[in-house]
Amino acid sequence: MPSNSPPIHASSCASSVRTTCAAHHLTDQQFTALKTHAIAAKTTAYCPYSKFRVGAALLGPDGSITQGANVENAAYPVGTCAERVAFGKAVTEGKVGGFKAVAVATDVSPPASPCGMCRQLLEELLPLSFGPENLHRD
Ligand SMILES: [Zn+2]
Repeated sequence: MPSNSPPIHASSCASSVRTTCAAHHLTDQQFTALKTHAIAAKTTAYCPYSKFRVGAALLGPDGSITQGANVENAAYPVGTCAERVAFGKAVTEGKVGGFKAVAVATDVSPPASPCGMCRQLLEELLPLSFGPENLHRD
């Protein structure tokens, strides 16, 4: 993993949560709200094929939270990840830029990280994200 990529921590580790929130200027209330909304969003997932529920919660520039969940399709590439659903909803509601954080909830531990397509979207819409500059090529 590139050295400047944020580490992935389980939300059950209080010291990691405290350190990460402080580093990214998130309050305890914002973290708790994002976690609660991401977990709640999982219940809206449409995942009859994988049974892998994913919920996402996106903290917008105005402090609002937009939820998303994965939406699968029998034709696999047509399905959409929870993160991209949340960003798509936010953007089409007029919230473009200034996003502060995204939380992703799954039913597995340790937590799953966003897929490559979502990372690419995050790179463009969320600061401090993984991007081409993080790829160490020889
Ligand atoms: Zn994804």
